[in-house]
Amino acid sequence: CTVTERLQALTAPGFSIEFFPPRDEPDEAVLWRSIRQLEPLDPSYMSITYGAGGSNRDGTIRSIARVATDTTLVPMAHLTAVGHSVAELRQVIGHFAAVGVRNILALRGDPPGDPMGEWIAHPDGLNYAEELVRLVRELGDFCVGVAAFPYGHPRSADLDTDTRYLVRKLRAGADFAVAQLFFEAEDFLRLRDRAAAAGSDAPIIPGIMPLTTPRTLRKTIELSGATPPSWLLDRLEPLADDPAAFRAEGLNVVTELCERLLAEGVPNLHFYTFNRAKATRELVSRLGLSPALAPVA
Ligand code: FAD
Repeated sequence: CTVTERLQALTAPGFSIEFFPPRDEPDEAVLWRSIRQLEPLDPSYMSITYGAGGSNRDGTIRSIARVATDTTLVPMAHLTAVGHSVAELRQVIGHFAAVGVRNILALRGDPPGDPMGEWIAHPDGLNYAEELVRLVRELGDFCVGVAAFPYGHPRSADLDTDTRYLVRKLRAGADFAVAQLFFEAEDFLRLRDRAAAAGSDAPIIPGIMPLTTPRTLRKTIELSGATPPSWLLDRLEPLADDPAAFRAEGLNVVTELCERLLAEGVPNLHFYTFNRAKATRELVSRLGLSPALAPVA
């Protein structure tokens, strides 16, 4: 079944989970332990990222194939155009189809090394995610997602331009979008409003990072591409040297964010797991997102 079918079938708010491809055997064992701990909670779908600059693509293909064959989860593979010729992209998409993966998050990717360095397309490759959406569609009966940016993509001139290109790639054949990390519910809701005002009613799923450590906070700031609000730093930075207190307050912050999103009718929350299950299980439980886990006060 596809991500769209799962989202449409939701009768209560759901959640999805994201992993990265393992680099070695110990990593792989950690990944699979986490997948098995989250699988019984019945997430809407699970996704595996594509290595930066197109690296470790075999890891993505191998892991997503195993998810498709050995689990009850709905798998979605991330795929980036960077560094690949169209022939290579066709081949990877063919691999996904062959192992039963019907959902692809179509991305352009960042240049390897410096993400904000000059974008250089592969001489026989693609320039924008929009073209990858078309290619994936052309090659099979896939459900396709794209990336959306609450603060605008760092390379976009302004929010209007950013919204125009988001809507273009949705119209090119994407079924839904997943939003980059953000700090406040309003930042996400404004993105949703911009897309709707520009004529798109495709679902946009918010990306959520469980803020368990100072490192996850730094990563969130980096990925969001925005300046964090002072209230957030005031709540978490004083706890940087107390891991238990940081984790507790970090998860409180994320719970409050998720509650606000759910109150605004967001149907599905997408959690970055960093290949661990514990924090996501805790949030799913607190938010009552899975009948398999009793809500915790
Ligand atoms: P595009 O949609 O192509 O946009 C790139 C830039 O070009 C934007 O500034 C846009 O406004 C502009 N643009 C778009 N179309 C046009 C056009 N037709 N003409 C002119 N300008 C245009 N990276 C990885 O390496 N692996 C992953 O697994 C991964 N997963 C991600 C998941 C999510 C949910 C998100 C939000 C990002 C992810 N990324 C991943 C990062 C992503 O690859 C980068 O943010 C990349 O810089 C942008 O990708 P895009 O698909 O949004 O690009």
